[in-house]
Amino acid sequence: MKRIAILGATGSVGTQTLDVIAAFPDRYSAHSLTANTRVDLLEPQIARFRPRMVAVNDGDSADRLARGSGPPSIHTGVGGLIEAVTHPDVDMVISALPGSAGLVPTLKAIEAGKTIGLANKEILVMAGEIVMESARRNGVDILPVDSEHCAVHQCLAGQDPDRIERVILTASGGPFRNSDPEDLTRMSSKDALNHPTWNMGRKVTIDSATLMNKGFEVIEAHWLFDLPVSKIDVVIHPQSIIHSMVEMADGSLLAQLGPTDMRIPIQYALSYPERLETPWPRFDITRNWSLTLDPPDVDTFPCLGLAYEASRRGATAPAVLSTADEMAVEAFLQHRIGFTDIPGIIADAMDRHAAAPDRLERPEPVTLESIVAADRWTRAYCAKKLIAG
Ligand code: MG
Repeated sequence: MKRIAILGATGSVGTQTLDVIAAFPDRYSAHSLTANTRVDLLEPQIARFRPRMVAVNDGDSADRLARGSGPPSIHTGVGGLIEAVTHPDVDMVISALPGSAGLVPTLKAIEAGKTIGLANKEILVMAGEIVMESARRNGVDILPVDSEHCAVHQCLAGQDPDRIERVILTASGGPFRNSDPEDLTRMSSKDALNHPTWNMGRKVTIDSATLMNKGFEVIEAHWLFDLPVSKIDVVIHPQSIIHSMVEMADGSLLAQLGPTDMRIPIQYALSYPERLETPWPRFDITRNWSLTLDPPDVDTFPCLGLAYEASRRGATAPAVLSTADEMAVEAFLQHRIGFTDIPGIIADAMDRHAAAPDRLERPEPVTLESIVAADRWTRAYCAKKLIAG
């Protein structure tokens, strides 16, 4: 029995992880569930999965959880998240909090020796060097819960890492793939949230529409597979059937294909290195599929280039990229800025941070302290800029 802690149990990956746990009750149990403030969603999860520990953001949310005697124990704040993932009985942590909130609890889980199923790509974008170094030091496996990286992970099984020519991440292109650049200025959050192939949380869905999600995934692949970003390419594949590819030195392309169902990569991470028979719908070979691959439109979607640029600059630049994106997407979802304003805000924050005299940064190695400082600087800078308009 693998006992799972879920950081972000009420989000899209969290609820789908619980679907997998429910499908294999003899193999998996939910030891710890954490949520921000969605007590209404958390309560039925507690009733169904009977976790030993629960963590929520604040005392108000904790008070709203109807409590009987006995488990689960209820914890709050970052300290609560850390307790939930480092408990000695936890075997594996699914890290699925969006944005920077999951960074410290995930690092603590790694230090406690827990296997990580990583759905939060911002953690690797912001602090990839620190996270991967800590995982090496603690002998911890980091298994990607991202369809593209799960695909690459499968393609690379048994391959010589020195013979990888490049990784090719597929992108659906999001809902605006064929939009006229002129029309993009008028796109609402409702349009952007209407993703053509994947069912995901709001932040990642907007990031898919801007292609920033793919930019983050390039940086994520760089850390997970120890490859320079110059060896990581992106191709637009609207059908989302090929989940990603690896080109080897001999010119062979290895690809992983499958249904667009996040429960499959979640199940892969939970069961790795075993494979379990899936209860989810399978790929229907009788349908008349056509697969297309096109280069990304980097002029219309500048966020992808910003991610490559942040990775080239290194140190805290990717942390600024990630936090500025988080702020800009939130402002877009609140109708405070337009869709095409998002990349400008991020590029400006990256340039201003690089020039800021008071920034806390050492060139190498980057420290958690400098990343937290860059995150804080970017939050304050973007907040001020978004108010000024
Ligand atoms: Mg993905």
